[in-house]
Amino acid sequence: MDLVFKIRGVIKNYEWGKLGVNSMVAVLQRSADDNFKIMDDLPYSELWLGTHDSGPATIPHLANKKLLDWLQMNPLSLGENISKEFASSAGLPFLFKVLSVNKALSIQVHPDKQTASKLHKEFPQHYPDDNHKPELAIALTNFKALCGFRPLNEIKAFLQEITELQKIINVDLVKSFLEKGDLRSVFTALMTSSSSVYEAQILQIIENFKCNKYTSDLSMSVKDIFLQICEQYPSDIGCVCIFFLNYVKLKSGEAIFLAANEPHAYLSGDCIECMACSDNVVRAGLTPKFRDVQTLCSILTYICKSAEENMFVPQKDVNDPFVLTYAPPVKEFAIDSITLPSDTIEYKLKTFQSASILLIIKGSGVSCYEKGEVNLNIGCALFISANCDVIVKPSEELLMFRAYCLG
Ligand SMILES: [Zn+2]
Repeated sequence: MDLVFKIRGVIKNYEWGKLGVNSMVAVLQRSADDNFKIMDDLPYSELWLGTHDSGPATIPHLANKKLLDWLQMNPLSLGENISKEFASSAGLPFLFKVLSVNKALSIQVHPDKQTASKLHKEFPQHYPDDNHKPELAIALTNFKALCGFRPLNEIKAFLQEITELQKIINVDLVKSFLEKGDLRSVFTALMTSSSSVYEAQILQIIENFKCNKYTSDLSMSVKDIFLQICEQYPSDIGCVCIFFLNYVKLKSGEAIFLAANEPHAYLSGDCIECMACSDNVVRAGLTPKFRDVQTLCSILTYICKSAEENMFVPQKDVNDPFVLTYAPPVKEFAIDSITLPSDTIEYKLKTFQSASILLIIKGSGVSCYEKGEVNLNIGCALFISANCDVIVKPSEELLMFRAYCLG
């Protein structure tokens, strides 16, 4: 029986994705699948590698059998890290993705386990999962995002300089916020304000930016991205969230971790993403999808941190110079980034007591294990059963990401 084999991911064509061959998602899939044709005018936003019901990975050499079905027949392949913590019948506890973002995704938050279960019970049509969804994003190209609330002094400075925000929120409420700092009240008032009020004010803010009325460094730091989001989502209250949430710019390899109830929105670029296996999103702006503003405002943590504090720094391995480990404080997943120089003769992947998925982002080579060999090229995704020893022999520099469970 094969314990290491190629799997095929599922593509999502959400409208915010990069178009055609500009999308890394599309390019990876075409490289992995000869039959996959890229359409120039179609957005390719996400590649899903996992066992989630809404995008189940399949096994090409087994007549496209679902990976989940195979795992249910071969539960030992999941390994102890997974089976001791999670129901084996559910498959992989993590969902591994690639995202190619052309325009802003919704302002969103992922509920904690307790809230997810409550929302799922009450509104199953909007909240299909009862699981939480902490997520980690690792930039593959220059990647921009909004992430977590800004430090209070920055939010206060914006409210003082951009007085139109005070009119949207309510002048007295802002005054009280400037004294006492009750972020929940002002943010809730902002997000629940009436379009008859905020539309005109947003137009005025755009106008003021264009004629350089706001001169502080802080305002200048968001001018371009604010105008860009306003063009993508005209008259959307989500546009002004940039004055409340940190604007982060990640370079390749840099990462952010979104714990439960932390507000965020990806803006542009390509990234690797890993999360607990769930699809629960509470949205409040920058989206044509269902918005649940009250829920979003009620579950947010309102923890204020700087942009730097939101960065998730990977761990180096003293025994292995080729690996960086991104292990956020959750049981469901960790990610290794593995870069092998072209002159590497052979490299033994770490042996985990967990099933894992290895995705090739750059380069080519071959992987060998006890019972066979699998060629590796860009876009190739390899399922590796728990406790399998795999050797990789690059033929050119290889960049790979591997998702697994530490339990
Ligand atoms: Zn998210």
